[in-house]
Amino acid sequence: MGCRASVSCYSFNGNKLITTGGGGMIVTDDANIAQRARYLTTQAKDDPVEYIHGAVGFNYRLTNVQAAIGVGQMEELTNYVAIKRENARRYRDGLAGISGITPMPEAEYATNSFWLYTILVDKERFGKSSRDLLADLSRRSIQSRPLWQPMHRSPAHLGNTFVGDSVADSLCRDALSLPSSVGLSQRELDLVVDAIRSAAR
Ligand SMILES: *Cc1c(COP(=O)(O)O)cnc(C)c1O
Repeated sequence: MGCRASVSCYSFNGNKLITTGGGGMIVTDDANIAQRARYLTTQAKDDPVEYIHGAVGFNYRLTNVQAAIGVGQMEELTNYVAIKRENARRYRDGLAGISGITPMPEAEYATNSFWLYTILVDKERFGKSSRDLLADLSRRSIQSRPLWQPMHRSPAHLGNTFVGDSVADSLCRDALSLPSSVGLSQRELDLVVDAIRSAAR
């Protein structure tokens, strides 16, 4: 997992499958990159005694306390993935047959953790846009969320070069992430499915 490139990043933010409260981890098998990452994340200090900085560094340490939380969380990882996959199975079975709703797929080559369960809403066939469905669910006190704005649409990145055409835009328009917590009961998952089914009518 997570090792297809020379550098991989993990987020341990509070909303993730496992968390340290915040922060993350870089993994690499390149000793030079590892050394550079350690240098930049620990304030880029060039002298063991004097405060001399050879580059603009950052104070991006994961504290010992956070690391201990992370180690504890690792004991839950297998269990959490199993719960998420069970949530996904329930959503998939429940949503099957609702016209215009595409359940979240799982690639044949991968084991999806289903950290966040995201459906696609076809406005024509479902009769409502993803954002209208979001509002419907919200009225029933069910929180759902769109996907992230594609970076080439983000005001902060406007005008930058990007590759690809309309896939990110259509995913952003049609996608809706449903409640995905490991703490959800089966009854709560069924409530979400029922709410989507009645929103279609
Ligand atoms: C968590 C996450 C991020 C942000 O990671 P942080 O560690 O919170 O900065 C960005 N994109 C996706 C898809 C994520 O799941």
